[in-house]
Amino acid sequence: MTLAGCRCPQTGAFDDSVTFTMNSSRNVKLLWADSHRQDDKIVVHGAFSRQSSGSTPMTAHVDVQMLSSNGELLQQVRTPEMKVPRKLPGKGISSERFEVELDDDGFTDNPTIILSAHQGNCDV
Ligand SMILES: [Zn+2]
Repeated sequence: MTLAGCRCPQTGAFDDSVTFTMNSSRNVKLLWADSHRQDDKIVVHGAFSRQSSGSTPMTAHVDVQMLSSNGELLQQVRTPEMKVPRKLPGKGISSERFEVELDDDGFTDNPTIILSAHQGNCDV
């Protein structure tokens, strides 16, 4: 029996224990999110795109919150403001990747990670 191609996580059940909630905005759509441990950090990454076709310059950021299993806000970080790629009919999805780091110190079992896409400034 060969183990080639096994992509078992090296960090046990970490990935399975995280619940992601993705809040797209009216103009910015979150496509996917994932997380992994890296040294003493938790790296959360994902991608977003425009909700509808357009080439008007647009920037957005993603607010990332980690909540404990009983809903307590443990950490909150925000990506830099990033350009949202143009989306043209028939060209498929043009997405932009983002990545943030959370402190492993504040990590908890079975957290919920909430990602909220925001266009322009926000006061969160
Ligand atoms: Zn925001």
